[in-house]
Amino acid sequence: MSNKNFRLVIKSGNVFDPLSGAIKEEHTIVIVGSKIAWCGSDSAFDKEPNDEIIDATGKTILPGMIDCHVHLQSTATPQYERKYLRTTRGMLHYYALRNAQNHLIHGFTCLRDCGGYPDWGPSLRRIFDSGTIAGPRLLVANLAIAQWGNQEAIGPLEVLEYSRQLSEVKTGVDGVKHAVRDRKRSGSDFIKTLTTGGVLHGMTSKVGTSLFLDEELLAIVEEAHRLGMHVACHAHGREGIYKAVMAGIDTIEHGSYIDEEIAELMIQKGLYLIPTQIAGLSLAKPEILKQLPPEVAEKTKTVVSAVLENHKIAFNKGVRFAIGTDAGTPGNHHGQTASEIKNMVENVGMTPTQALQAATIESAKAIKKDDMLGSIEQGKLADLVICDLNPLEEISILQDPKNFAYIIKDGKIMVKHGQITYFK
Ligand SMILES: [Zn+2]
Repeated sequence: MSNKNFRLVIKSGNVFDPLSGAIKEEHTIVIVGSKIAWCGSDSAFDKEPNDEIIDATGKTILPGMIDCHVHLQSTATPQYERKYLRTTRGMLHYYALRNAQNHLIHGFTCLRDCGGYPDWGPSLRRIFDSGTIAGPRLLVANLAIAQWGNQEAIGPLEVLEYSRQLSEVKTGVDGVKHAVRDRKRSGSDFIKTLTTGGVLHGMTSKVGTSLFLDEELLAIVEEAHRLGMHVACHAHGREGIYKAVMAGIDTIEHGSYIDEEIAELMIQKGLYLIPTQIAGLSLAKPEILKQLPPEVAEKTKTVVSAVLENHKIAFNKGVRFAIGTDAGTPGNHHGQTASEIKNMVENVGMTPTQALQAATIESAKAIKKDDMLGSIEQGKLADLVICDLNPLEEISILQDPKNFAYIIKDGKIMVKHGQITYFK
C-alpha cells in the first residue's frame, strides 16, 4: 500500500548501536518528518513509491553526536581580554551562530551551551529548531549562577564590564532559588553554576576553595529539578567537586582534582563527569600559553598536570563520562570535539566504542535527553551522521568533516562532506 507521506530512507548502512556497542550491518533507517519511523535489517524493509533513498552501502551510521559543554559566543582567541575591547555585543551573537554551525558540520547535532551573555541562547535555539537556518539542537543555560569571591573582579574596566555580565552572583537560599526561577522564565534548559574558581578567571581566583554554602547548592539543585531542569557545575578543586556531588548536581564539569572517594560517591549517585580535557590541553600548548596573562599561564601548568591522572582514576573506578569540550576557551576551537573523543581513548583509556558511546548515548543521558537522542531507535529524533569510513576502526576519522557523507538533523539533510547544504 502506498504511503503519501514523504519518507527519507537511509538504505543498507552499518548502524552503530551505542546501547550494545555493536554495529548492525546492512540496516535501513526510515525517517518520517523529524523522527525515526523504523530501523531494521534490509530484508525486512518495504520500499514505498515516494521514498527518497540514500544508499549507505559500506558506510557507518552514527547517532548525531553531542557536545555537553561549549561556549558558543567565545571565539577561542588566546588574547581574550583584548578581544573584548574590539567586540560588540551584537557581534557575539553572530559568532555564536557561526560556531554552532561549525559543530554541526563536524557531526555534532546537539550542543549544551554552558553560559555566555544572557538572552541570545533561547533565540538561537528557536531559530535552529524552526529550521530557518541550519544548526544543531541547543540546550542553553543563559546566565551562570555564581558565588561571591573566587571569580575576582579587578582589571581593566571593559574586561570587568564584560565578565560581570557572564554570571550572576547570588547568595542565600532565597537568592539562589530566585536565580533558578529567573533562568526558567528566561528560557534556560538547565542551570550552570560554579563551586570553584576557573583557570581563566583572574589572578586571585582559586580553583581549590568553594564559597557556596551547602544549603545554597542544595537549594539550586532542588529548585532546578522541581522546574524540570538539570544542573551543571564547573568544579576544578576537590572541595568544590565534593560539595557539588553531595548536593546532587547532575554533571560535574572539568573535575580536575577528582579522587577515588568522590568517584565512589558519583557512582552511587549516578552523576556524570564531563572532563573537557581539550580545554586544558589547548591552554597548555606553548604558542597559546605565552599569550595568556602570566598568572593564568602559571595556573594552567599546575592544573593540567593533575587532570590527566585524576580522570583516569575516575574512569577506572567506573564514573560515567560524557563528552564536552569547553569550546571557545583559548586555543580550543569550535568544531574540534572529535579531538576530545580521541583524548578519551588516548588519555583516559576508553576503547573507541566506549568513546563513541560517551559522545552519543552517555551524553544524551547526562543532559537528560536520552528519551529522544543518543541512539538510532524508532521514535527518537532523526539526528544522524553517515560516515564514509568506520570510526570504530580509526577514531581519528571523526576529525575530518569530509569523511561525513551526510549529517542529518531533525530528519533534514543539513551537511554533505563538510558543507552546509540546507537552506530553507
Ligand atoms: Zn566552560
